Amino acid sequence: MFASVIIDQDTKALNKVFDYLVPQGVDISVGARVSVPFGQRTLQGFVIALKESCDYDASKIKKLYGVMDDFALIKPEHIQLMKYMCDEFHLRQTSVLRLLVPSEIREGKVRELFEKYAVLGKYDLQSLNRAKKQQEIIKKLQIEGKILISDLKKEFGESALKALIDKQFVLIERKKINRKPLVLQHQDKPVTLSDQQNRALQIIRGNKTFLLHGVTGSGKTEVYMHLISQALNEGKSAIMLVPEISLTPQVVALFRARFGEKIALLHSSLSAGERFDEWRRIFCGEAQVVVGARSAIFAPCENVGVIIIDEEHEQSYISEANPRYDSKEVAAFRAKYNSCPLVLGSATPSIDDYQRAQDGEITLVEMPVRANGKPLPKIQIVDMMNELRSGNSGTFSTQLISDLAKVINDKKQAMVFINRRGYSSFMMCRECGYVAKCNDCDVSLVYHREDNRLKCHYCGKQYKVLDVCPNCGSRSIKQGAVGTERIVHELAQIFPDVKILRMDNDTTSKKNAHQKLLQEFASTKPCVLVGTQMIAKGHDFEDVTLVGIVDADQSLYRADYRATERCFQLITQVSGRAGRSQNEGKVDLQTYSPRHYVYKFAANYDYKAFFKKEANIRKTAAFPPFSKIIRILFCHNDENVVKDELKSCYNKLLKVREVHFDDVIYMDAMKSPIKKIKNLYRYQVIVRIKLDSSKQIEDEIFDCTQNALKSSVFFEVNPENMA
Ligand code: ADP
Ligand code: ZN
Ligand code: ZN
Repeated sequence: MFASVIIDQDTKALNKVFDYLVPQGVDISVGARVSVPFGQRTLQGFVIALKESCDYDASKIKKLYGVMDDFALIKPEHIQLMKYMCDEFHLRQTSVLRLLVPSEIREGKVRELFEKYAVLGKYDLQSLNRAKKQQEIIKKLQIEGKILISDLKKEFGESALKALIDKQFVLIERKKINRKPLVLQHQDKPVTLSDQQNRALQIIRGNKTFLLHGVTGSGKTEVYMHLISQALNEGKSAIMLVPEISLTPQVVALFRARFGEKIALLHSSLSAGERFDEWRRIFCGEAQVVVGARSAIFAPCENVGVIIIDEEHEQSYISEANPRYDSKEVAAFRAKYNSCPLVLGSATPSIDDYQRAQDGEITLVEMPVRANGKPLPKIQIVDMMNELRSGNSGTFSTQLISDLAKVINDKKQAMVFINRRGYSSFMMCRECGYVAKCNDCDVSLVYHREDNRLKCHYCGKQYKVLDVCPNCGSRSIKQGAVGTERIVHELAQIFPDVKILRMDNDTTSKKNAHQKLLQEFASTKPCVLVGTQMIAKGHDFEDVTLVGIVDADQSLYRADYRATERCFQLITQVSGRAGRSQNEGKVDLQTYSPRHYVYKFAANYDYKAFFKKEANIRKTAAFPPFSKIIRILFCHNDENVVKDELKSCYNKLLKVREVHFDDVIYMDAMKSPIKKIKNLYRYQVIVRIKLDSSKQIEDEIFDCTQNALKSSVFFEVNPENMA
């Protein structure tokens, strides 16, 4: 028998299938990890097929050495998935393998963890007459049965215990332990489902995709949990994806309270040991409910009964690093393979998916009212131009300050949202216009007051603060737009006696810091929580009655066709944090463009009207979802190399365009908006093609990139980030 093997080395040269002869008597199956001879080396690989004959000269084919585990690490579904992904996203098999089997498992560096216990063997107490400590150990074991070896060592010392073990009076027993991520305690409170929840559950059945459009606080989570219970009742498993930043301790606790030990978590802040154990628990069917961030879509569960993607509009579901993939499409593949429903949930569906629902490709399910029966918080648009005209050039409008004062007076809570961390967005010389930039990246540095440093948000490099302009020597330095640190600083001056917390990447980087912050917020009244996107998602605090959006325009003026969509989503999400319980909520939205349509629709929570307008604009301009954008990004630390390789790719593309003139709407080569990141120069080609273009055109465009051997090349269809 012959095995087709993919070598576990992620390089272009090894992106092939190699055939090996399976030695007699070796028990092998598809998906098995095997060790194989490769040139002079021994490498590991994965069997993706077994066959009786082989196209090459059988006498020249090498024998594989053996199978490395007791079971196949890759399940049949995942072998199919790998093929699908390679085809669909133009990926290498070797790179996809790395997604399917986490490094902890592949590299064999992490092991199962055992605890060692002492138990009694056949002993003779008499013979221990003069060994006092050994006697005591035996007596203690007689009473307790088994005791952790480490505890015994601590109490009686190493030598006494060793003597007993040598005589086999004491035996060692190993017990496997699971390293489990820490989870908050939470009481599961059963609820009676509302009519709209029941209706949603009736509709969501069968092998179809559903778009669950439910306003914030409509009780989508409860619908998800019911769907998961249904799957479990049928003896099936379930996968639920949530954006990394909404995978808060509260959310996890909620699911743990409902599903107990059946839950497994997969996200980026697990330790290697935790990931290893959670993955194995899923693999062997011990955990049937997988809750996790993007990569959890690859969880090795079988017989999947439902797949849920919460906050489906989130861009984090698309991987930005190589290998680039869209977890929604992976989910669709798995749902089809398992004949189960795929549920995409959101209060602000992506324009793409809502359009798909309009076209009847997927089924729309609506939950238009909040579970508490209360109206959505009123959003007041505050015109900051007006504030300027009346002499207020500060960060906060008089409206926001007076609303905050009221919250504080009522001993309630407020959230203040600004999507920028640090103190100010840049430092600039007033005299000559010099802006402090990162040496390695083409971006301006952000001032962080707490550490009194300038930081690059792309590579993390830190620099000394600018006191004197290095260009002209002037001491007149201007700061850019406000960030979270500065908001906290200014609020503390206005409300000196009130607790003000800050939640952003900087305050939550330590393990469990996130959890501590949220706990402190939950138990402090009055309190103001200032934060970035992190505060926008998933939180359910009943005493939050006010949300302040300091700079709503910020997300609007990005050079990205999705900017307005993002802005609408963000406003709706943040606003959704207010008034979730018995108290009514309010939102102050500060803007310099109060008449922009996005604010009008967002303030009325009129998603449908927003969709209509936005879809119309996209249709007219032939942007997705009415066309496909392909971006080919070239990166290299030598600018000439990138330029050359880009150019030769572009020349090939010109020929493709000649052939498919009717399908290519637009094509151009250019510098990326951010020209350099981490010392790598970035150039790109953007191609827009008609929606109904054949897959073949896409493949032909992809082929044009294949000769670039030096640059890293990223091929993306409808990328989330165009920077
Ligand atoms: P969403 O995810 O749609 O924003 P949640 O699922 O967080 O909303 O629900 C909002 C609040 O409503 C939560 O506090 C939840 O416990 C509560 N809730 C959900 N369903 C019900 C119900 N049927 N009856 C009472 N309260 C409910
Ligand atoms: Zn200067
Ligand atoms: Zn940098």
